[in-house]
Amino acid sequence: MELSIKINRELPEGTFKFKQVFSGFEQVEIVRKIFGDNTEKVLDNLYVIIEESRGYLYVDDTLGAIVVNKDYLKKGKDEYLYLDVIHELVHIKQFMDGKELFDTNYSYVDRPTEIEAYRITVQEAKRIGLSEKQIADYLKVEWISEEDWKKLMKNSGLKS
Ligand SMILES: [Zn+2]
Repeated sequence: MELSIKINRELPEGTFKFKQVFSGFEQVEIVRKIFGDNTEKVLDNLYVIIEESRGYLYVDDTLGAIVVNKDYLKKGKDEYLYLDVIHELVHIKQFMDGKELFDTNYSYVDRPTEIEAYRITVQEAKRIGLSEKQIADYLKVEWISEEDWKKLMKNSGLKS
């Protein structure tokens, strides 16, 4: 897969400008679609916090920053990290629009903010050439059950 983006994988823990960690995303069509004319401005003002926490990436909904696990940043697959960043950028847009990111009235796989993020991410995964099988593997994360995984694929617009 050829991606026009660059990931700076060797950074230590700390707070960085988005572009210091993930560069070239402002050129990605789907990112420009998410943020429109504000793309440059949003990405210029976005921060990434590198932590030795559990997990992969998430949006801190008090700071409006992307948090990434240091080890995952170092070792995660290119395609997965790329898609994760797209996913989190959808959440950043939702955060900017004042949406509740972690609405506990919904389960993870039924939460509207997650469904929107996964739908866009799955579209982008197809565009960069991942097969349905590869996308299904990408969506198989350890914190959801087999049943929820199937639901997530359906909700994301992926054929089972
Ligand atoms: Zn999410």
